[in-house]
Amino acid sequence: MSVQSSREFWRAIHPPVEKPTLRILSHGGGVQTSTLLFMAERGEIDRPDAAIMGDGGNEPQAVYDYLAYASERTRIPVYLYNNANILEHIRRSKGLPDGKQLMALPYYLADGGRMMRTCTNTVKIEAVTKQVRQLLGLTKGQRVPLNTRVEVMIGISTDEKSRAGGFPAERWQSVRYPLLEEEMSFGDCLRWLDDRQYKRAPRSRCIVCPFRSNESWRQLTKAEFEQACEVDDFIREGGTPPRGYQSLPYLHADRVPLRQVDLSRVDLFPEDDCTGSCST
Ligand code: SF4
Repeated sequence: MSVQSSREFWRAIHPPVEKPTLRILSHGGGVQTSTLLFMAERGEIDRPDAAIMGDGGNEPQAVYDYLAYASERTRIPVYLYNNANILEHIRRSKGLPDGKQLMALPYYLADGGRMMRTCTNTVKIEAVTKQVRQLLGLTKGQRVPLNTRVEVMIGISTDEKSRAGGFPAERWQSVRYPLLEEEMSFGDCLRWLDDRQYKRAPRSRCIVCPFRSNESWRQLTKAEFEQACEVDDFIREGGTPPRGYQSLPYLHADRVPLRQVDLSRVDLFPEDDCTGSCST
């Protein structure tokens, strides 16, 4: 598809909002949304009023460092919104007598399958909406005025286009997929950054996120990997499965303790993703 027809196609499904109250970039902190941020800065796509990243307080340091790097190279304000601390939720959920999960991560279960995930919604999607409400000047519980239209730009690229369509989170939001409009893949984003001499953004996800390939686990620093191992041990402490499940959870797809996994193996399947699924 040519860029022109791609634009027409995606804009027919997700039309740009005319004179939006606010236009924001839902910033995942990784390659695709960093590319969009710089494209907007250079006038290659519509300019958002702000970029917002939901932060569970557990991103690798490389992600926070890149956010600082990006913020210095754009006049678009970049907000980090911490709606929930993911480690705190994991700790507190173990402390509850009934084993209730306050926030569920997509852990691998010993008897097969995965745990249902709520962290994306709590850490990412709700965070973006709360920051938008602040930018609109709304107080807690205050209704959004009827004529409010907020355009939310999502960084889904052509290689993950099946993930498009998860938003809007609220009736007063409309979504837009600028990378799909521009017919850009993940590789195109890397090339775009390279060609303009921007540093490549790291892949963004919580340190303890089970959506990691072996390669992605290897990219953590020693201290970050140790933190993930401690959490991995912790979620099985006491030998009680999470509420509503029959078997113990693991962070790695092998369903063995993370410390014992041979991470030097080549990944056979592409890495699953929080950012695409939750559209941040
Ligand atoms: S990156 Fe992983 S752990 Fe973090 S919110 Fe997304 S799915 Fe959950």
